[in-house]
Amino acid sequence: MAIPISETDTFSNDKTTKENTPLFVKDSQRGPNVSYHYNPEVSQYHYGSLHPMKPFRLMLTDHLVISYKLYEKMDLFTPRRASKEELLKFHSEDYVDFLQTITPELTTKLTDKALAKFNIGDDCPVFDGMYDYSAIYAGASLDATRKLISGMSDIAINWSGGLHHAKKSEPSGFCYVNDIVLSIINLLRVHPRVMYVDIDLHHGDGVQEAFYTTDRVMTVSFHKYNGEFFPGTGSVDEIGIGGGKNYSINVPLRDGIDDDSYIRLFKLIMEPLISKFQPTCIVQQCGADSLGYDRLGCFNLNIRAHGECVKFIKSFGIPMLVLGGGGYTPRNVSRLWCYETSVLNDVTLDHKIPNYLPTYDWFGPDHSLHPQLEGRIDNKNSKKYLESVKQEILEQLRYLNHAPSVQMSEIPPDLTGLTDEEDEMIRELNEENERENKIVRDEARDGEMLD
Ligand code: ZN
Repeated sequence: MAIPISETDTFSNDKTTKENTPLFVKDSQRGPNVSYHYNPEVSQYHYGSLHPMKPFRLMLTDHLVISYKLYEKMDLFTPRRASKEELLKFHSEDYVDFLQTITPELTTKLTDKALAKFNIGDDCPVFDGMYDYSAIYAGASLDATRKLISGMSDIAINWSGGLHHAKKSEPSGFCYVNDIVLSIINLLRVHPRVMYVDIDLHHGDGVQEAFYTTDRVMTVSFHKYNGEFFPGTGSVDEIGIGGGKNYSINVPLRDGIDDDSYIRLFKLIMEPLISKFQPTCIVQQCGADSLGYDRLGCFNLNIRAHGECVKFIKSFGIPMLVLGGGGYTPRNVSRLWCYETSVLNDVTLDHKIPNYLPTYDWFGPDHSLHPQLEGRIDNKNSKKYLESVKQEILEQLRYLNHAPSVQMSEIPPDLTGLTDEEDEMIRELNEENERENKIVRDEARDGEMLD
């Protein structure tokens, strides 16, 4: 793998100069408030040795983020797991019960029919701690939404989230719980319009399906599509139904798309969509399998190009929930998400990975944050094809003449995203305060009467 000429060493510094050289350069005086939500337990789970989904990619990402000292720029949170009640805001009770009780040992005793009911198989195996793993990544996404809702964060990041395929009553495509749908449901309590942007290689089908009939969520997915490629959906004709008609946007792409065409198309589509829909919050899924050289991938994107899309969305200054997703070449997944963390924090990182990183060897032989990832696959996206996709989507956009408004009465009253127990505690405290206030009021009134 060649390193771009601009990134090779032209001279070397002595040891002291090297130690005092900052690892990143600030791009703006006052960047946004960014929070980073990471529970390290999530990286300890295993889908199975042959399975392409490797949760330890999250540990690699965290190591890189720490090594570049990006923690100095952000508020860090170790979130709690999502509660069962929280999972039930989207998922069905029998499915959540199944996730909670099934074990690899029990699986061997179940019939094929029983396993098929919950879509258990090679893609979505039953593994030790599957429920806990799901509750951890979903808990981190929900924690991030709470920080956005309270206004503590302008941008909240959870790289362990973004599992966009999970359905209401079954897992799909390595995803058991759909943390994105749960997060959007939470955001809708205060946000009249939420936009979902998905740049994973695969169609964001679970999220699209959940909000297919509403105009309060616009889902936009850029993905490989030929009718057969997983999950099989994501044609440009899938536009939503009923009240949600025209609020589902699909950008089907062919193999091998390169940086320039992807970025150009992304900006040409996203700019008018954001202007028309006027989201009050954006959920950005940053699946890393759209990078070149991904184990399951077929695009040619470099890390900078993927990050350019995130930078573009950020430039609108709308609160953002930023999530991970697919990505099956762990060293590149972690490079990408570390780079995107820097983009979101308005800093430029040294392209050379710090050599005191505990997992430094993973990033050899180049030890660069930006290995060249293009050129493995022929680009099958002709200019003519991309132009026709763009035209079709802009045509769909013509039917969106306004940003839908929402009556305040439609927004549920519990705005803080607290658990039932926390809600109960606050209610009791309020009742106590109310009682005390009443006593004070009564005493004051008594005093008035005596006057
Ligand atoms: Zn994917």
